[in-house]
Amino acid sequence: MGVRQFSFTGGEPFVVRDIIRILEYALGLAPSLVLSNGTDPVLRRLEAIAVLAGRPHPLSFRISIDYADQARHDAGRGEGSWRKAWQCLAELHRRGFPVSIARQRDSGEDTAAVDLQYRELCLGHGLPGGTRIVSFPDFLTPGAHPDVPLVSEHCMTAHQTADSRSRFMCHFSKMVVKKNGRMRVYACTLVDDDESFDLGGRLDEAAGVRVMLRHHRCYSCFAHGSSCSEIHPG
Ligand code: SF4
Repeated sequence: MGVRQFSFTGGEPFVVRDIIRILEYALGLAPSLVLSNGTDPVLRRLEAIAVLAGRPHPLSFRISIDYADQARHDAGRGEGSWRKAWQCLAELHRRGFPVSIARQRDSGEDTAAVDLQYRELCLGHGLPGGTRIVSFPDFLTPGAHPDVPLVSEHCMTAHQTADSRSRFMCHFSKMVVKKNGRMRVYACTLVDDDESFDLGGRLDEAAGVRVMLRHHRCYSCFAHGSSCSEIHPG
């Protein structure tokens, strides 16, 4: 099917016992990206992860550091998480893996100032100042039903361009997930709490299904842009 990249997300992918074997296999086929919390499950398996650098395709990591402020990050993820996430980034970078950072975006924030704080933190932890930082709006918890405008076809044609539409995650990627013991394909990683975004049990068939943007997170994509499917720069 011409798949260009595999991305693995969770929860935390490294709590899966077979994740190293899975990545080993995937990296024989295409570049792969792991989205991780960057805590003990990664730190404990660093030596096994290092071996994956020798596979035919590159492996990259995106680690969540929600805020440039340690206390704020740890308040959401547990005491010590911030320090471990930076340690993971540094250890993975030291082993030659491209790394990026996922952060939360506050409404009304000074994005340039926040990104500068992250750059300084990167440099302080031995990472390149140009480390990619991907920011996400608050997507709310799964199953939430906030009152947001519906994204219609008119919204997508009048307020988006062909180029910006092509950057919607559901346009260029799909999420494959095992649910109740069956493989299902969802429009993207953000909508698997809504069965209407279940596009079936086959990737080739799901690729042709038209996605209606009725999920509240679709409005976040429309208004702010965001993607969990970062394509590997290599
Ligand atoms: S949340 Fe909606 S608009 Fe955004 S990528 Fe998923 S399906 Fe597409």
